[in-house]
Parts: sequence; structure tokens; C-alpha cells
Amino acid sequence: MTDLDASIQPIFDEILQRNAGETEFHQAAREVFESLGRVVDRHPQYAEGSVLRRLCEPERQIIFRVPWMDDANRVQINRGFRVEFNSALGPYKGGLRFHPSVTLGTVKFLGFEQTFKNALTGMPIGGGKGGSDFDPKGKSEGEVMRFCQSFMTELYRHIGEYRDVPAGDMGVGGREIGYLFGQYKRITNRFESGVLTGKGVGWGGSRARTEATGYGAVFFTEQMLATRDASFDGARVLVSGSGNVAIYAIEKVHQLGGTVVACSDSSGVVYDPDGIDLALLQDVKEVRRGRLSEYAELRGGSAEYRAGGNIWSLAAETRIDVALPCATQNELNEADAVILAANGVRAVAEGANMPCTPDAVRVFTEASVLFAPGKAANAGGVATSALEMQQNASRDSWSFEHTEARLAEIMVGIHESCATTADEYGEPGNYVLGANISGFTRVADAMLAQGVI
Ligand code: NDP
Repeated sequence: MTDLDASIQPIFDEILQRNAGETEFHQAAREVFESLGRVVDRHPQYAEGSVLRRLCEPERQIIFRVPWMDDANRVQINRGFRVEFNSALGPYKGGLRFHPSVTLGTVKFLGFEQTFKNALTGMPIGGGKGGSDFDPKGKSEGEVMRFCQSFMTELYRHIGEYRDVPAGDMGVGGREIGYLFGQYKRITNRFESGVLTGKGVGWGGSRARTEATGYGAVFFTEQMLATRDASFDGARVLVSGSGNVAIYAIEKVHQLGGTVVACSDSSGVVYDPDGIDLALLQDVKEVRRGRLSEYAELRGGSAEYRAGGNIWSLAAETRIDVALPCATQNELNEADAVILAANGVRAVAEGANMPCTPDAVRVFTEASVLFAPGKAANAGGVATSALEMQQNASRDSWSFEHTEARLAEIMVGIHESCATTADEYGEPGNYVLGANISGFTRVADAMLAQGVI
């Protein structure tokens, strides 16, 4: 852990005290704070107006009860959250996560990260995040629909195309966005396309939004590799997770000539030395909503399922050039990072939010492994959500090729802005520093201009 600048330490202490027990939020804030000491030294205006303290206090936090009936007619109760973190650059924007592990602290860490990520895209969107401790796994279609309807019955009063625009995250995909949008439309009697993103392409969604986070992470990694005259062509890659981000990261790696040899879920790892069969993976995960163990059974051949296995330790068994953690927070620790770095991995990019622990990031930095933090590498999802809002506002619908080209352009821009900022602050190639400073200055400048609010 790097020491915090003397002017910043008291602000961090205040965060710990005011947000007791929210360890993921503390971790996300500390990571940003470690980068900001030198910005405050160079630009004292950021120390004035308590801009940093204000940035760490969400503008609004909503917690609500979500009652719903299960298939056996029993009443179930979940907790819903929406944290509207910062609207200096535009309406609050960020996904909804449905997962049993979701707490207020989880949503705050995600909303905090989202604020800087959205700023990095250069688009007019503020930061927010939400979700529930509801577990969609094992629920029937009817149960998922009734839950989504109950969730929206409270959430609708807080959102709107100029106010707060949620999207998907873990456990929330096209199906859930459909049910949420339907209930919003029914309550408000408005077809307000721009109130949610990640909608179906036939009713206001953007082409390439489903693919955008995974594709974007690969585009960012491609840019990093190019700084060392490398590429995905012929590269062997690990992608953790097997959800939305992982699936489309795998697709883009394969399109660029690389081979993804393993992916995972929370129960285990599939090692498939010939390369993951994407069509089969999509059938198992997206169509049947099955488990990864089923993929290995259906695939046969040399594909191997390792129950409870650790995907990163594969680097000690077989050549791996790139690692893309695309599952969840803190899934790649110091020991995993040591294995990856010691076995010649050249680049690691966070498709998920905060999947690498601070110690893992330190190992990568010390070993000169190219490392992209999530707020830069996975910003393609929200950037394409902003493109969806743009299409909704102009009643337009772009082609897949045009939207993907815009996404690629945005990711090149984010890479450029992180790299240039890191250079400016004397640490070339430090994408963590570059992303944090570049995102922070955009939000902080807007906050200073808008006064103490
Ligand atoms: P999904 O719910 O579609 O997929 C999550 C995947 O991660 C599932 O395969 C899940 O397995 C797996 N997983 C969960 N916990 C673990 C674990 N402890 N070890 C291994 N695998 C695990 O979510 P997304 O793909 O949408 O999101 C993944 C990450 O990307 C999250 O951090 C999210 O915040 C981030 N992200 C997502 C964006 C998006 O557009 N969707 C945008 C930007 C960031 P299982 O089925 O067993 O739970």
C-alpha cells in the first residue's frame, strides 16, 4: 500500500469513519486517493471547496423494500438500492446488480468507480449504481418478472432520461431490463426509451451494447499491447467468468487471432486447450442459463472441468500471454498475480470492476506487466450505453458496424488519455495513475464550476 499524501489522509480517515464496515468502498476510494496526492500538490484549487470530500459523499442514497410473491405464493422480501453518486457531468448513469452479496457498501464502491469511469469516456454522464440482494439463479421466469416489477415500482420515482439512467450489471441482462422497462412504462404511461439502457434492439436498444464491455476491454488491451509491439494474434488468454463481459471478451479475442484457453464461474474452471467453443458456451450460458460444468460435458475432447479450481494458476501449467479478469471484485489476489507475472503474462486488463486486489496490482506494477484498471478497461459498456441514449434522443438506430467503430474509437481515446496523463505525471505506462487523475480532473473541474452544491 502506498502512503497517502498528508493533505489527503484526513479525508480518507473521515471516509473510514463515516462509512464504517463498507470495506469495498474503502478499497475503491483508497486506490483513487493514492493517485491524487500529486494532483493536489500541482493544482491547489482541488484542495479548495472540499471537492474531494464532496466527491466521496453520494448526492443521494436510496434503500427500499422489495416484496414479491414466489411460485409457491410465499412472500419474499429483498432490499433494493440506488446510489446517485455524482451528477456533475450528466444524469446519474450506471448499472443494477442482482446478486445475494449486494450491500450498500458494494453499491457505493461501484458508484464511486462509475463516476470516474464515466468521466473517462468523455461523454455527458454522471455516476450512479444500484441493485439488490435478490439472487436470480434458480428462479423461474415468473419470479424474476415479479421481482423486477416490484423493484421498479419503487425505483421509477427516482429515475428518468435526464435524471438517472440505470442499465445492467451482474445478474441483470436483457431479460431483466425488459421487465424493468415494461413496469416503468406501465406506471408512468410514457415510452421513455432513454430511461434505461441495455434494452432489446427491437424496442430502443443499441446494437453492440451487449458486446460492448467485453469488446471494449479487448480493444483497450490491444492498445496497451501495441505500446510493446505486441498484439492478440497468436496470444493465449485466460478470461475469468462466463457471463456477459467474459463471453464477448472471448469473442473479440478470437476475432483478433488469439485463443482463450479457459474461463470460469463461481463453481469452477473450464480448461479447454484448443480454445473455448464460443457457440457452445453461449448456448449453455445465455440460452439454457446452465452451469459451466455442462459446457465441459457437452464439449468433450480435451476440455476439462475443474470444480472449485483457480483459473489463474493455469499460467503455471501452460503458456499464457494475457489475463482478463471478467467475473467479480477481488477475484485475483497477490498469490495469483505472482503466478501470472512469474510465468511471463504480458498484460492484465480488468473487464470486471475491481477484480484485482491492491496487492495484486502492486505485483503487476513492480513486474512491469501492463495493467489496465476496470474504470478504463471496462468503460466500453457504459460508453455504448451513452450511445444508446444518443440514438434514443434522436429516434435513430445505428448499424452494428457503426456502433462498434464508435466504441473502438472511444476505447482508443480512453487509452490515449490515460497514457498521456501518466506521462505528464512522470510515470509512463501507469494506467492506474492515468485513469484516476484523468477521470478525477474532469469531474472535479465540473464540480468547481458548479459551486458548492
Ligand atoms: P454476469 O452476471 O453476466 O456474469 C458474472 C460471471 O462471473 C458469471 O459467470 C459468474 O458465475 C461469475 N462469477 C461470479 N462470482 C465469481 C467468482 N467468485 N469466481 C468466478 N466467477 C465468478 O455479469 P457481467 O458479466 O455483466 O459482469 C461481470 C463484471 O463486469 C462485474 O464486476 C460487473 O460489475 C462488471 N461490468 C459489467 C458491465 C456490463 O456491461 N455488464 C459493464 C462494466 C463492468 P456464476 O454464474 O457462478 O455466478
